[in-house]
Amino acid sequence: MSKFTGMEHRVPIEKENPSIVCNDALCKKCKLCVKACTLDAGVYPLYDLEKNGDHGVCINCGQCIIACPFNALTEVSNISDVEQAIADPNKKVVFITAPAVRVSLGDAFNLPTGTNVESKMVSALRKLGADYVLDVTFGADMTIMEEAFELIERIQNKGVLPMFTSCCPGWVSFCEMFYPDYLNHLSTVKSPIGIQSTLIKTLFAKKNNINPKDLVVVSVTPCTAKKYEAKRVELSQGMKSQGLDGLDCDISITTRELAKMIKDHAIDFNSLEDQEFDNMLGKGSGAGLIFGNTGGVMEAALRTAYYYLNGINAPSDKFLSFEAVRGLDNVKEAYVDMGKLTLHVAVANQMAEAKKLIDEIRNGQKTFDFVEVMACKGGCVNGGGQIKILKKPVMDEARINRNKALYDGDKKMNLRYCHDNPLVKQVYDEFLNKPGSVIAHDLIHTHFYDRSWEINGK
Ligand code: SF4
Ligand code: SF4
Ligand code: SF4
Repeated sequence: MSKFTGMEHRVPIEKENPSIVCNDALCKKCKLCVKACTLDAGVYPLYDLEKNGDHGVCINCGQCIIACPFNALTEVSNISDVEQAIADPNKKVVFITAPAVRVSLGDAFNLPTGTNVESKMVSALRKLGADYVLDVTFGADMTIMEEAFELIERIQNKGVLPMFTSCCPGWVSFCEMFYPDYLNHLSTVKSPIGIQSTLIKTLFAKKNNINPKDLVVVSVTPCTAKKYEAKRVELSQGMKSQGLDGLDCDISITTRELAKMIKDHAIDFNSLEDQEFDNMLGKGSGAGLIFGNTGGVMEAALRTAYYYLNGINAPSDKFLSFEAVRGLDNVKEAYVDMGKLTLHVAVANQMAEAKKLIDEIRNGQKTFDFVEVMACKGGCVNGGGQIKILKKPVMDEARINRNKALYDGDKKMNLRYCHDNPLVKQVYDEFLNKPGSVIAHDLIHTHFYDRSWEINGK
């Protein structure tokens, strides 16, 4: 008999799920989570508990949490872990905040949807006890330096194409479970949080003369799947390369958990003074900022791939507002004139819809050079860890406003290309040598696993 018997109305969540937990006492059997797991995540209809050994399959995307009107489904809370680290006088706590958090956090403090609260968020984190607050846009810049390099290398050396982005852990899990034959299509570059965490435990620790064991990296993300990603030991080469146990990213909390911490500490968020991120490994470009939007990774990568191919920055009229890959459509396709060659690219969001495109690629109906996939509808701005908005019209508007806020942020920045970021250049000069180097592969690339047993049984 299934351990999930009697729970047919809701998604089956394993007790060990690192991202999602269900409080059955609050469940009103509305089945909205099942709808989200079917139509958004595309997971629920694709497996059978009777055939897979009664295993609740999950890509940790948190779209069921966003859909649950009664808060029966929530993220696994890691707030006490953060509080404990802050209270420990021997630990230095480094918060790293993903791009999309800043355009949703304000929703918890009655600000209009899409308000960019970056500087108040930084201030709040310092009030909570952060020793350092760094922007994951820096990690995003690093991801692009390696990913654009890998793309050009694959094209020039007749490698496996299309190359797929791999910075969304929801999509990576989906690929590992449902498309294990496509794992060699995934870019081997780690996600922005993965890279930044490794660089903090290595270069940052060294430059600040801190033992890496005394650093606690806390990622603040729009994403429940990042809690799962943080536990992937193969992402912790920073610690491993120094012969140390432990993870590179120690704790991951969502935008909602950060909002709760701010409220629990009675911090008057809207009255906080504006503050800036710390500088070392802490600031990124506009291209890194738009990572939170569907199409953002693609646009950032195209800007840098153009530079790698031509030795000059891409024409700003097209590449700094690349309309063909923008917008909230589930699938966008474009031919891109890169000077020396033309790329055929696609951008897909909302896993259930993206799956249709992946099937077309797999059965040969469509061919591309480069494909971006994000599991959540609209990208990370609508991630499973963002502030919940249950009313559909308000949520639809929020998605548009959050999306626009990141593009506006990019437009306002002087630094629009990842490869122009002086902090990125410094990291290569002092530590990683050059994109695609041996040390870069050792530390900031990764590998993936065939997890089809989760669908088919062991
Ligand atoms: S987290 Fe995503 S995949 Fe997992 S049960 Fe919820 S909607 Fe489905
Ligand atoms: S959405 Fe929430 S309340 Fe509705 S069935 Fe799912 S867990 Fe229960
Ligand atoms: S789209 Fe973003 S928020 Fe959603 S699962 Fe992927 S990385 Fe997480």
